[in-house]
Amino acid sequence: MNKEGYIELILKKNYQPGYFWIFPLPDGKANVGAGMLTKEISKRRVDLKKMLMDTIENEPEISRRFEGAILQDKIQGWGLPLGSKKRKLSGDNFILCGDAASLIDPFTGEGIAPAMLSGKIAANIVKKAIEKNDFSATFLNQYDNELYKKTWGETRLSYMLQKLTQWPWLFNFVVGKASRNKELQKTITSMFADVDIRKQFTNPMFYLRLLFKG
Ligand SMILES: Cc1cc2nc3c(=O)[nH]c(=O)nc-3n(C[C@H](O)[C@H](O)[C@H](O)COP(=O)(O)OP(=O)(O)OC[C@H]3O[C@@H](n4cnc5c(N)ncnc54)[C@H](O)[C@@H]3O)c2cc1C
Repeated sequence: MNKEGYIELILKKNYQPGYFWIFPLPDGKANVGAGMLTKEISKRRVDLKKMLMDTIENEPEISRRFEGAILQDKIQGWGLPLGSKKRKLSGDNFILCGDAASLIDPFTGEGIAPAMLSGKIAANIVKKAIEKNDFSATFLNQYDNELYKKTWGETRLSYMLQKLTQWPWLFNFVVGKASRNKELQKTITSMFADVDIRKQFTNPMFYLRLLFKG
């Protein structure tokens, strides 16, 4: 595994839109998996577990990484409720948080941070609801407003990026340039964590500038 302990997201063509991942764990273990849009899985009749094992066993640049590796558990899967569109998140006497509210980032597949944020916002609003003894849909609607105000910009951007990876020629062009350009390598590495850097990928000028880069 990577000496620095980096997580690895491997953007292979057959998983688009999606990726194959290797996340280092303590004691030489790793969390290995793959994700793909459900729509594509059904359209292309993909057996994701089979494809994951096939990648590990037969793709030369991946399989050499797994020489001597031992599968620790059975492979399990689950659907990720992606935040690709706005939904109603509360009503009379209830508030939905985390996966129940479909808050997962549609580009990175990360759902832990939005789940924690939604829990925090919900707790504050529930506190106010108890003080006012008002648990109506109208009162609790402030949860939807506050949460989407904090997250919707980033979620939209991630949704657009997810669409971008459906054009492999454009993705290959960017990655090809990055292999020769340290600054761009840094930008791409950071885009999974930094929303401002991610914004560059939706700006046509970014690609135009790339055309003239070595
Ligand atoms: C394979 C996979 C990989 C992922 N990788 C990442 C990642 O790398 N980074 C990331 O940020 N996110 C990742 N996610 C998404 C992330 O796991 C979820 O978005 C996040 O855990 C959602 O948190 P939650 O609290 O809403 O729901 P959960 O973590 O699902 O928690 C819900 C809990 O409620 C319990 N429960 C259910 N029904 C009942 C009941 N009736 N009574 C009592 N308890 C009940 C469940 O057992 C569970 O413990 C991944 C998801 C999957 C499936």
